[in-house]
This record gives sequence, structure tokens and C-alpha cells, in this order.
Amino acid sequence: MADGADGGPGVAGGRLPAHPQWCDERFNFQAMFLKCLAKHVPNIYSAEMDPLLEKQEEMVQAAILYPLECYLFGEDPDTFLKKLQQGGTSQLCGKVFKGGETTYSCRDCAVDPTCVLCMDCFQNSIHKNHRYKMHSSTGGGFCDCGDTEAWKAGPLCTKHEPGASGSAKENSEWQLNEEILERSRRVFPSVIKYIVDMLIWEEAKELPLELTIREKVDSYYCVLFNDEHHSYDHVIYSLQRALGCELGEAQLHTTAIDKEGRRAVKAGHYASCQEAKEEIKRHSENVSQRPLHVEVLHADVMAHQKFALRLGSWLNKLMSYSSDFRQIFCQISLKEEAGSEKPCFISKLMLWDAKLHKGARKVLHELIFSSFFMEMEYKKLFAVEFVKYYKTLQKEYISDDHDRVLSVTALSVQMFTVPTLARHLIEEQNVITTITETLLEVLPEYLDKNDKFNFQGYSQDKLNRVYAVIYDLRYVLVSKPALWTDRLREQFLEGFVSFLRILTCMQGMEEIKRQIGQHIEVDPDWEAAIAIQMQLKNILLMFQEWCASDEELLLRAYRECHKAVMRCSTNSRSRDKTVFHLCGHTLESRPYRVSADPVSIHLPLSRTLAGLHVRLSKIGAISRLHEFVSPEEFQVELLIEYPLRCLVLVAQVAAEMWRRNGLSLISQVFYYQDVKCREEMYDKDIIMLQMGASLMDPNQFLLLMIQRYELADAFKKIKPTKDQDLIKQYNVLIEEMLQILIYVVGERYVPGVSNVTKEDVIMREIIHLLCIEPMAHSAIAKSLPENENNETGLENVIDKVATFKKPGVSGHGVYELKDECLKEFNIFFYHYTKTQHSKAEHTQKKRRKQENRDEALPPPPPPDFSPAFSNVVRILNCDIMMHILRTILQRAVELETHLWTEAMIQMALHLLSLGLLEEKQQLQKSLEEEVTFDFYHKATRMGSSALNAVSVLMLLEKLKRVPQLEAQKDTVSWILQMFETVKRLREKSSLTTVAATSGSEAIKGDESTQDKEKAERKRKAEAARLHRQKIMAQMSALQRNFIETHKLLYENTLEAQGKEDTIMEDESMSSAIDYSRIALGPKRGPSVSEKEVLTCILCQEEQEVKLESAAMVLSACVQKSTALTQNRSRILELSGDTLDPLFMHPDLPCGTHTGSCGHVMHAVCWQKYFEAMQLNFRQRLHVEQIFDLENGEYLCPLCKSLCNTVIPIVPLQVQKINSEDAEAVSQILSLARWLEIIIVRISGYSVKNAKGEKQNLPAFTNKGVGNSALEFHSILSFGVQSSAKYSSSIKEMLILFATTIYRVGLKVAPNETDYRIPVMTWSTCAFTIQCIENLLETESKPLFGSLRNRQHSGLKALVQFAAAQRTTSPQVLIQKHLIRLLGVLLPDFKAEDTPSLLEVDMFHVLVGVVLSFPSLYWEDTVDLQPSSISSAYNHLYLFHLTTLAHITQIVVSSARESPTARSPDNSEEARSAESFCREVYQYTCGCFNQDIPGWHVWDRVKKGIMPYLRCAALFFHYLLGVSPPEELLQVSEEGQFKALCNYLSLPTNLFLLFQEYWDTVNPLLQRWCADPVVLSCFKGKSVAIRYPRKRNSLIELPEDYSCLLNQASQFRCPRSSDDEQKHPVLCLFCGAMLCSQNTCCQELVNGEELGACTSHALQCGAGVCMFLKIRECKVVLIEGKTRGCLYPAPYLDEYGETDPGLKRGNPLQLCRERYWKLHLLWQQHCIIEEIARSQETNQIFFGFNWQLL
Ligand SMILES: [Zn+2]
Ligand SMILES: [Zn+2]
Ligand SMILES: [Zn+2]
Ligand SMILES: [Zn+2]
Ligand SMILES: [Zn+2]
Ligand SMILES: [Zn+2]
Ligand SMILES: [Zn+2]
Repeated sequence: MADGADGGPGVAGGRLPAHPQWCDERFNFQAMFLKCLAKHVPNIYSAEMDPLLEKQEEMVQAAILYPLECYLFGEDPDTFLKKLQQGGTSQLCGKVFKGGETTYSCRDCAVDPTCVLCMDCFQNSIHKNHRYKMHSSTGGGFCDCGDTEAWKAGPLCTKHEPGASGSAKENSEWQLNEEILERSRRVFPSVIKYIVDMLIWEEAKELPLELTIREKVDSYYCVLFNDEHHSYDHVIYSLQRALGCELGEAQLHTTAIDKEGRRAVKAGHYASCQEAKEEIKRHSENVSQRPLHVEVLHADVMAHQKFALRLGSWLNKLMSYSSDFRQIFCQISLKEEAGSEKPCFISKLMLWDAKLHKGARKVLHELIFSSFFMEMEYKKLFAVEFVKYYKTLQKEYISDDHDRVLSVTALSVQMFTVPTLARHLIEEQNVITTITETLLEVLPEYLDKNDKFNFQGYSQDKLNRVYAVIYDLRYVLVSKPALWTDRLREQFLEGFVSFLRILTCMQGMEEIKRQIGQHIEVDPDWEAAIAIQMQLKNILLMFQEWCASDEELLLRAYRECHKAVMRCSTNSRSRDKTVFHLCGHTLESRPYRVSADPVSIHLPLSRTLAGLHVRLSKIGAISRLHEFVSPEEFQVELLIEYPLRCLVLVAQVAAEMWRRNGLSLISQVFYYQDVKCREEMYDKDIIMLQMGASLMDPNQFLLLMIQRYELADAFKKIKPTKDQDLIKQYNVLIEEMLQILIYVVGERYVPGVSNVTKEDVIMREIIHLLCIEPMAHSAIAKSLPENENNETGLENVIDKVATFKKPGVSGHGVYELKDECLKEFNIFFYHYTKTQHSKAEHTQKKRRKQENRDEALPPPPPPDFSPAFSNVVRILNCDIMMHILRTILQRAVELETHLWTEAMIQMALHLLSLGLLEEKQQLQKSLEEEVTFDFYHKATRMGSSALNAVSVLMLLEKLKRVPQLEAQKDTVSWILQMFETVKRLREKSSLTTVAATSGSEAIKGDESTQDKEKAERKRKAEAARLHRQKIMAQMSALQRNFIETHKLLYENTLEAQGKEDTIMEDESMSSAIDYSRIALGPKRGPSVSEKEVLTCILCQEEQEVKLESAAMVLSACVQKSTALTQNRSRILELSGDTLDPLFMHPDLPCGTHTGSCGHVMHAVCWQKYFEAMQLNFRQRLHVEQIFDLENGEYLCPLCKSLCNTVIPIVPLQVQKINSEDAEAVSQILSLARWLEIIIVRISGYSVKNAKGEKQNLPAFTNKGVGNSALEFHSILSFGVQSSAKYSSSIKEMLILFATTIYRVGLKVAPNETDYRIPVMTWSTCAFTIQCIENLLETESKPLFGSLRNRQHSGLKALVQFAAAQRTTSPQVLIQKHLIRLLGVLLPDFKAEDTPSLLEVDMFHVLVGVVLSFPSLYWEDTVDLQPSSISSAYNHLYLFHLTTLAHITQIVVSSARESPTARSPDNSEEARSAESFCREVYQYTCGCFNQDIPGWHVWDRVKKGIMPYLRCAALFFHYLLGVSPPEELLQVSEEGQFKALCNYLSLPTNLFLLFQEYWDTVNPLLQRWCADPVVLSCFKGKSVAIRYPRKRNSLIELPEDYSCLLNQASQFRCPRSSDDEQKHPVLCLFCGAMLCSQNTCCQELVNGEELGACTSHALQCGAGVCMFLKIRECKVVLIEGKTRGCLYPAPYLDEYGETDPGLKRGNPLQLCRERYWKLHLLWQQHCIIEEIARSQETNQIFFGFNWQLL
């Protein structure tokens, strides 16, 4: 670089602290630069072991980079770069992908599937609305936005479009000025040279002379390098041992090594480092046979290498700003030293790539991406360099031990897939030859002595690296040239010939020989060869396509390929020919037996030739073939020999002749015909046989077939052998051969074989797939071969042949075949597997039967062969074919049972049909005398020998009578008709007029026979129907037993019965229409309860539910739940040791839900069952259990739901009150009086208790106590009865269930005597009712009559249990709880810990007080409970009190809101509300805003109280059994409110309650309002929960899945800053995004490491939670720490299918129905159940550690 350039010094005078010397033009920049580095770098990077990264960076900036930039830009770097940045970004995006990042491709516009967009560009591109694909990057790719060659349309996103970035881009303005360019040309070479020198520096102890300035100090590092061989644990172990360091330190080192590629693990003098090195090597060798890579480096060397990388990223940044910088960089990097053979800078680095450590490679690759790949012209130059060293690079990569993404060879895809570049590289650099030669050079280690590949004992990893080279070939060939130049043709042909050399090594490789006697010892490796075949499939097809695009080229390629095949086919010439006679025809051939001689399945050369042959036929150039391959050379017998052997091998495998060769052969045969390989294996072999059939004499061809199938004997003699095994074998072989003959004649759907298009071929494939059954889009796609662009072409044609049927809430959408396509069905479709064949046959026959048609499935008329193949049909009417057909039919007619099979007959009939169809078609097309195809003639002629003196036609007639062939009768009839038709056509053309009349007669005749057959068929159908009916009757008789043993049916009938029950209830209700439908108070209606007789699912015995009999139980599951929470941020207590659950907070943060699957057992039966399971479990300790027996878990014996307890079924105590008596009572028992009585009773207790124990009950200041009329026993005077007497077994179950609720609900150890047991009972009762009410509302179902059977019986049992549980606890305890609860409701009565009105959920209070109230009736000596009338009043008043409190809650909580603009009404309710508000105002010291309009308050109350009323109605209904009003069986807003008020004895104007009870309520209201919490709410200082509470739903998800992926891509782990791949997971309950499966976000809970999801679930869902794994598109359900399952995400592609793992990558849309299903799963508390069910059916997830999710 010129040194004395002017223009630089101007800067020196500025304020910039630039390096003075650099600016001095007299100095050599390079020397100065190096001097500066030599001075600073070792200092800056001195603390390698424990670097202060920020400090380092600061020093680098200050000492080196800042001065350098100042010099380079001539002004303040920040200002300059900002200006530069605004100057417009490049039109290429060039974003480099990290592993796991989502990339998008467009199937409509991308040139090939490797063209991808980054998330940003995609979202701003037109492809967003196209058929895009989403995928996870493996890392190392590059966004193609802006590359015009990558996209057929829309190459630029709006962000990268010129002029898009803010102000119009005016290039000139921001082009660097000449001064800067000049300086850059001075600076860049030195920088680049330094980087290159340091990266490839090999001296461990010395630095280059220019950099050595100071005395060399004895300071070294022992540096450990990354490799893929040693595991994390190995390295940690070795480090700990060798260095004696702590685990933590070793882990730190290891992580750094994995990330950066190398790390200093010890600093010190040379000797000590050397020692450490040996130690590490020794220890690592011990654990893994291979030592770790360790080096001892001088501290200065290490420092400079580090800085070189830093300088690299500095260059990177610079180049991202300006195209000029990029170009200068590229120019310098490519510059070769004049006269020197040495590679240029960039090539030097490439060649060194495999020796660099990970961190250095990353910097190098980024440099290439940000320079060469951003400038098209230089990309080309780089590609040329790349190809120049291609062989060396690939070889280095193959022996390298780093992943491909870390290799420079992975860049090939960026260059080879660019069409113009690929063409340039082929033309100028001969890249195809280069690649194939590379392959030939790396593969020899797999060559055997015959120069064929043999992959026995191959290394998978190494082969995978070889595949990378094969992939490059594929990339180069991806876009076919539109125009051929001579040079391109020559170079391509050279590449093709070179490629044929690889195929030559594969032709006949891995030969196998049939094993006789002994089974093979070891299954040989077969995967490698098949895998290579798969890799090559599309490359082979692409080569053929390239050839076919130019006639000259195709013919020359054909010649070369033919030569290669012939060269490989000479070895069998050694043997003498033998002669084979049959029916007067002879075949001379060289002896060969597949069953005895070696055979290979790999014949890529032959198959390529077949591929070229059909293409030759297609473009019509077959006539010129003789110019290139002379007929003598052609030798078609030899060409078909090997493919034929391969097909025979398949047949012999089917005949089980190769049993002893093991599974590997079976697998190979499978892949040979499988969709992944068949195009270049099986399909081409069939084509090859078709070539043979068309070019050989037909009789000769068939003789060859018979001989190769080793069936000469089978067709010669009438009874070839008596050996049964051999006969069976013959039969299979005959079947296989007939099938191949059918294919040879019938399979014409290949462009070139006939005149069909590619679309026709795909349509036919799809038709045949759908003839088996309707299929999902993905299933069809999987069964079709993919082309080089991974496309099947399915979408273009599917709508022509099929109709789409949308999926339901589960399952997937399917395609159904259109009716008009059914006629295309060919039962012997060559891509059917045996199972598919029989399934399709079955389906189609069934369909025809249903349509009341015959069951014949004749072949559809095939398309005409193209001229090159037209002779194939001659094999149908040749002598040998007739002989074959006659022999087979004869054997059937003569009932030689062992010598024929039905399948064989079916195939013979199919061949007959094909022959007749062919003749018919020919006759229809041309004149009779011109048609030489004489199938009819041959088939009606007698056989030549006396023994066979019957014609095929005669045999057919006889066949109709063979009883075993009943199923083929229709086909035979069809063929006989065809004979008639052909006969008539023959006659017709000779005698047109006569034929016309006789024709119609014949048709008439046909019709009459058809009529007859129809009648016959009808009769049969009728008989069949009767038979079915009989069977059905028997079935239903059996059904009763069946139900008992089969749970599914049982479930259904139960539901049906449930419906009947409701109908019956309806009837009983209508008969009892005069009964009151009021649940509370003196007008209470009667309990409707029928005698309950239940069947135990375990012993099947029935039993009536009675108080005194043995207990029956319902299986149940108790779980904590946050389903109703109003405040997810509230921290839940993990253990309830100190929790007092008496009062539920109105946020409902966490409740205890009890659910049941509704299945009934005897308590005894259940106990036995549970014990048996425990025993079973103990005996098989190693078996992982999906349920936790210790915690009482088990699976319901019938439906396998997860349960953890049982609910005892307690019968409802039927109560009926005399309304007259009740009315009488009402005269004296007013609310005020009732309250007094209670208070007297309670104070009486406290007096009594005070004598014995310490008084802990509240003291009363109530004046009522003084009332002399009342005393302690007054409460009893309104009626008592004796308590229910439960059987001991029921009692036992009451205790057991209550204890479970307590244990699960509080997460504590079981304790039967804990004081909180009754409280938890009431709480779960209240909470479960609230959940059910909530669910019914969200599902818009009526309150009554719509519960599922299991919910209904579960709730009934739960409420009755909750009422009965009281009797098993000490009454004093119940009283204590009751008194505390009453504290909320009673005036002038407040226990010290009574919460404020705003801190309790009133429904919980209601349930508590109602259920505990009878304890007030308890006397020392007698067990009493209130009479029906007393209860009626108790319930009424308790309910009214809680309702008053709740109304007050609602008013208070809505006090601060401003009314919505609505026309005010002036109803009675509004006026009452207004006056109520005035009262409240008085008690709140004016805090309450009394100006709120009354109508608004009423509106709020009416809406807010609804859920409470609904819950109360459910509760009292299940408690008392009083029928609800009709209106509650329907959904109606207004009717519901009235009906509820009526049922619950409330005035519809709720404020009337206050008026009615004013005297009593007044003090209570006063107390409530004076509470500081309430006051602060009035003042707006705190916010109270609003009513109605919000109904929880799963979070809102976007319609388009890519939005979620977008969110995920922006997700940053909150705990760590590295850019490593994360697994973002979305909580569907609260919307939190978490970092799952990663150590960074693990949390320590109770001494256990929990993953982010598991620990989040503990808080968010009380252990049960639902997440969406965004990158995998899967929903995860988890419970606790040990259980979880996957569930399909609610996103579907346009074909109605989910895409777990985003494997297909189609655009996905939210499916609301499915998301709703997930919502219900949550709200119905069925997540645990779902997990258990999925774990039971899907045992795979046992191994998964859910804890760390
Ligand atoms: Zn992009
Ligand atoms: Zn873009
Ligand atoms: Zn597009
Ligand atoms: Zn039982
Ligand atoms: Zn069940
Ligand atoms: Zn959450
Ligand atoms: Zn994290």
C-alpha cells in the first residue's frame, strides 16, 4: 500500500487524541500498528485466568480501537458511525441464525427450500400470506432477504426495500470520501494480516519478531480445548482430578470451553503448566480412551490470539455499516502475493479452519458472512476460492471432530444454491467433477477388493460427514439451466461421467448369498448403503432431469451410462449357456440362480439407464439412440438381468426362502419398495423389465422370467412335487411373478412410458391411497415421494380427486376420494404393500356391496404405451403367457387344491382382463384387419397338447362353479362379458349392420341375465339382513352382561339412564305440581328423593343406600385449585401447617376441589381393591407407578380416572313440613327473636364451658341476654328430633374422606383429630359448588338439569357428606367454628379475630354456618338435631343474614365507580337502593358517596349477587332435595333471577330485606361500615373485589402461530445473559413466559431443584398447570413435581392437523374449539385425570424428569 498518500494529516490538528505517530505519514503504518499492539495487548489480556471483562474492553477501546478509529474516520468515531448508519442499510439482510431460531421459507416463491427469511424479514414480507413453512434453524444459516436469486417474487421485505428506512436513501451522500477510503486501504491490510497471522500462529512459546518487545517472562497457561468426543462430565471429572479443583470451578471451566472452544485452566511457569497438561491428559484418557486436547501457551501468545479475535469482531461491526469497507476487505483478503504460490488471506484462514478452536471459527465465519456474502460480486470470487480448495477443506472436515455448523464447509449451501453462481462454478470451476472426485477420494476406505463399496463396520459419524459432500452435489444441481452453452454441456458431462464412477462402485455392492442350513450369526450393517441410496435418490433424478433438458446431452449421457452398465455386467459371461424348452420355445441363457448365487439390491447404474431411457422416450429421441449405441452393443437381456434378479430376490424373501439371512435383508427389501427409495430402486427395475418386454421376443422374455423365478419345474409338469413346503414356495413365487407381469403390462403411469404428465402420476398415487381409506394431508404427503425441493406436488392436484372433511374437536381433517375417481382404482397398483392391497380390496368391495353392485374389480383401462414401449403388450398374447394362464386355471378347475391359490387366480384373471381390454381398445381405434393383437383368438383356442385340450374361455366357464372361488365369481362374469364384447367388436367391424342388431339382442340377453343376477343378489341381501337382525337380537340379550364388563358401553348407558332419570324427575315433579318449590322458610317444599339402589362396579351387586347399612362410596379426587382466583400474584403457602382456613378470602386464591368420576363401590370392595393394589405394588417395586399409593392414589377400577379418596354416599334425610304448623311458628319466631335465642344459647355454652376450661368465647354485651323469657334451652322449643344414626361403616368412611380433604387441601400430614377437619369439609363443599356454578355459566348451561352424570352424583354425595361429617367431630369444636363464623353476621357480636366484611367470601360463610348450625342443639345427654320446621327457619335466617352481608359487600365494592351512561330508571328497586345508600352514608362519616344514582346501585347488586344466589340454590337443592322451579332448568337472564329469589325465599327487590329487618340489621350495618378496611375502601384507598367476580379463562392466544414464535424469539431469559438456545414456555393460566428445561432458571423449593415450569406451577395453579412449549408447538400439562403429559397444541394447519414439533412447518391457525376444550379441561379440574390417562396409554414419558421442566 502506498505510504505517502496525502490527505491524512488534516486530522491531526483536531481535538482528537489520535495516535500521533499513526498520523505521521513518514511512518510506516503497519510497523506503528504492530508496535502499539506489542505494547498494549499483553498488558490488557494479562489476567487470563480470571479476567475482568469490562475492564479489558475499556482498555482495548482506549488504547487501541479508539485511536485506530479516529485515525481511520478522521473524526469522532461515534458521530461518524451514527452518520454512516443512517446512510441506509444494505439491501441484503444477512442475519446469521443461531440454533433453534425460527426460519421461514415460502413454498410459492422460494427458488429452493434452502432460501429462508429471518423472523423480522418474514413478518414484513409478502410471503406472510403465502404458503410458507416454518422451521427451526440448526444454526449457521443466513437470511436471504434481498437476494434476488433466491426468490421468484418478493425478494425484499419492506424493511430492506430501498428507501424504506426512513428518509430516501441517497447513496452518494453517504459514500465514504476518498480520504477515508485511502486510509482504509492503509489500515485494513495490517489489521487483516495481524488477524490471520495470529490465528494461524503455531508457536506456543514465541511471538513474531515484530510483536516481541519486552523481556520474555516465564508466564504460561495450560489451555484446554473443546472437542465433541468428551462429554461434559468427562471434562469436569478430569479437571477435578488433574487440578484438584472444586466442582464449581471445574464446571465453570467446562462451560466456558464448550462455549468458546478453549480456556486456560491453569497459569504459572512453563514447567507447572506442562505438568498440569500431562495430568489432564492422563485422567481424561482413563475415562474415555482418548486424551483431551491440551496445550501450554505463552501468556503473550494467548493475549495476541485473543486480541486478534476482538479485532475480527471490530472489523465485522465496521463492515456492517458500509459497502465500501466490505469491498476493501474483500479485495485485500483475496489478494494473492504476486509470484507467490501461497493462498490469499481468506483462503489461508479457510484452510486453517479445521485447526481453529470454536470461538475463532465463529469469528471467521461471521467475517465471511458480513463481507463476501453481502456483496454479490465478491461472493462469486469467494466461491471460486472455495471450490479451488474444496477437496482439502472437505477432507479436513471429515477428519475434524466439530459439528458441521462449525465448519467452513457448511458455507457451501450459501453459494451452490445460487443459480447463477452454480452455473458459473460448473462452467468455470468444473465443480461437479470436483465434488464427485472429492467423494471418490474420501470413500475408498469403504471399497472392497472388487472396487465396490462395503460399509460393514462403518462409523456413522464419518459417513454423516460424507453425506455433507453428497449434499453439496444436490445443491449445485438444484436449479436446472434454461440455456446450455457448449462449455456448460462439456463440463456437466464430465461431471456426470465422474459421477458414474461413484455409481459403478455402488452397482452390485454388498452382495448377499442365501444362507442355507444355519442362520447367519450377525446381521450385517445395511443402513449405511440404504442411507446413501436415499441421499442419492434426488441427485440421481436431478442428473436425469438435467440430461433430459438437452437432447444431445441426453443421448451422450445415455451412451456413457450404457457403457458403464455393460462394464459391470460382464462377470457372468464365464459360465456356459444352458437351454430351456417350454411349449416349443427355447431360451439359451447363462445359468444363474438367485437362491444360490450372490445377488445385490444396489444397482444405481442400471436404474439410471432406465431413467435416461424413459426420458429419451419422452422427448421422442429414442429413434436416434442407434447413432450412439449400436444395436449389437445394446444387449437388452444383459441390461434386464440384474434388475430381474433383484425382483426375484424380493419374491424369494416373500416365499420365506431367505429366512436364515436375518432381519437386515427384510429391512433392505422394505426400503427397496418404500416411498423414500422406490423411485430410484423398485420403480426403475419395473421400467427396466418393461424395456426388456418391449425389446425382446415376448416368449423369450417370459421364459427368462420363469427361469429366473426358478419356476421352470412348476410350469412343466402337472404335479411337480409332493413336497408340501416346496409347493407352498412355488405358489408364492408364482404369485410374485404374476404380479410383476401385471405391473410390466399394466403400470404405465410414468412420463415416457406412456403419455402422462407428472400431475397424472401424482393424482393416481393419491387416488390409490384414498381407495384404502380417507387420509389426513400429512399421511398422504408421507406416502408420496418428495422431490429435490421437498415437495410432493400434492396440493396442486388433491382438490381434483378428493374433498376435504374438517376435523372435530379432536382428530384431524381428512381427504375423501371423489366418487368419479373410483373408476381409476386398480387393485394391483404397484405401490401397494400387501396390507394396503388387501385393505383397499376390502374397502372397495364393501363399497360396491353397499351400493348393491357386483363385486368385480377389473383393471381400469390403462393409457396407451408410448411407441418405445408399445411392444410390451405382446407378452399378453404370446404362447408362454397362454400356457401360464391355462396351467393356473386348469389346476383350479381340477381342484388340485395345493397347486393354486385364490390370489393366483385373481392375478390370472387380472392378466386376462388386461389382454381383453387391450384388444378392445385396439379394435375401437383401428380397423379389425389391422389389429394383430389376437388375445381373444388365443384364449379361445385349444391348447396344443392333449392334456390341456381346453381353451382359456372354457376354463373360465368352469371356474364359475368352483366353490372356493365364490368371491371371484363377479370378476369371472365380467371377463366373460368382455369376451363377448371383443367378439362382437371383431364381428361388428366385418359385418357392421348385422352386428348392430345382434349386438342389441346380445345386450338384451345380457340384460336378462343381469336381471336374474340382480334378483338373486337381492334375495341374498334380504337373507343377510334377516341374519343380521337375528344376531342383533342375540347381541342385545348379551348386552346386559356385556355392560357390566365393558366400561365404555357402561358409561354411555349410564348417561342415557341419567337422561331418563331427569325425565322421570320431570314427571314426578309435574305430578307434584302443587308442591311448593321453595327451599327455605315456612313454605318449604318437600324433599324429592327416591330410594337409591346402586350397583357396585367391583362386585356387581346391587344395594340400597340406607343410613344403617354398610357404606357405599364414590371414587373421588381431591385437589387444590386456583381455577377461580381473582389474584394470581398472591403468594400461595406451600404448606398449610399454620393456616387457618375458616374464612375464605373473596379473591378465592386457592380452594380445595372435590371431583368424582361417578363410579360406585362398596366401601369394603374398595378397601379390598386398594389393599390388593398396595400388595401388588410392593411385590413389583421396580415398576414405576403412575399413581402414588402412599398418598391414597389409585385408578378408578372402571374408568381409570386418577382418584385419591372415596366419598361415602349418605342418603338424604327426607323432610316434609306441615305448612300450617310452620306458619304458626312464624308468628313468634321473627328474625329478632331467633337471634336472641341463639345468643342466649351461645352465651349459655360459654358460661357452661367457663366452668371447666378457659373461656375463649366472646363476651356478649347484648341486651337480649336479659330477656327473662329466654333461657338456655329455648332453642329446643321450636322442635327437635334425634340425630341420624349412621352405621359404623359409614362413619368410618366419613372420617376417612374428611381426613383426605384436610390432608390434600392443606398439604399436611393426616391427622384425624385436627380441629380444621370440619372447616376443610365445608370449604371444599363451598368451593366445589362455586366451581360448578362457574362452569355452568361459562358453558351457558342452565343451573339445573344440565350437569353431567358424574358431576351430579359427585356433588350430591359431597353435600350430603358435608352435612353428615359434623356428627363425627366433637360438637364443642363445631360450635366454636360456628360462633367464629357467626361473628361476621351477628349484630353486637364480634369475636376478636373476625375479619372485616370485605375479607370474607360470603358463600363459604353460608355453607359453614348452615352445616355447623345443628351443633347448637347438642345436649350432653341426648344427641339432638333441629326438627324440619326449626331447620327451615334456621336456614332462612342464616341465608338472609349472609345475603344482607353480601349485598353490603357489593355496594361497598362498587362505591367508587362512576355509573355508566344509561337512561336512569325510577323503579321501586332503584328507590329502595337509594334510601339504602343514604343509610350507609350515615355510618361512613361521609366517606360514602351518596350521590350514586339508585338505579346504578340496583344494577350492580342485581348483577353482582347472581353467582352467589346460583351457588346457594345449588347448595340448598343438594342439601334438602327440594325441586327447583322450572325456570332454573332453562337459560334465561330475567326468569332466572326471579326464580332464584323465589326458590330461596327472597323478595325480588332485595333491598326490601333491609327494610323488613331494619331494627336488627341497623346495628349490623353500622358495625360493618365502621370497619377501617371498609372505610378505606370507601375512600378509594384500597380496592375491594368486584362482584360478579371475573370468570377465569385461559389467556388470549394469537390466531397466527408465527406471532407466538415471534414472541418467543424476543424472549430473553431473566436470569442469564448468554445467547444460548432457550425453550420459552408460555403459562396458559397467566400468560407468563418462562425459561424451561434450563439450569439457569431452576429454583430451590423445599430443598429440591425445580425447573421454571414446575416451580411456577406451584404458585400459579397450586401444582397443576398448563403450558405451551412455543418452539415445539405442544401443550404440556403438569401436576406436582413428578407427573406431566404432552397434549396437542390448539393450532391446526389448513388441513386440520396439528404439528407437534413443527415438523411439517405449515402455517398454523388457532382452533377456538380445541382451545375451549383445554379451557374446560382446566375448569372441570380434569387435568390430573388427563395426565394419568395419557401416562397410562403412553408409557414413554415415564423416563422424563418433569421436575426439571
Ligand atoms: Zn432477515
Ligand atoms: Zn428483510
Ligand atoms: Zn411467497
Ligand atoms: Zn361391591
Ligand atoms: Zn370411574
Ligand atoms: Zn402462570
Ligand atoms: Zn433461564
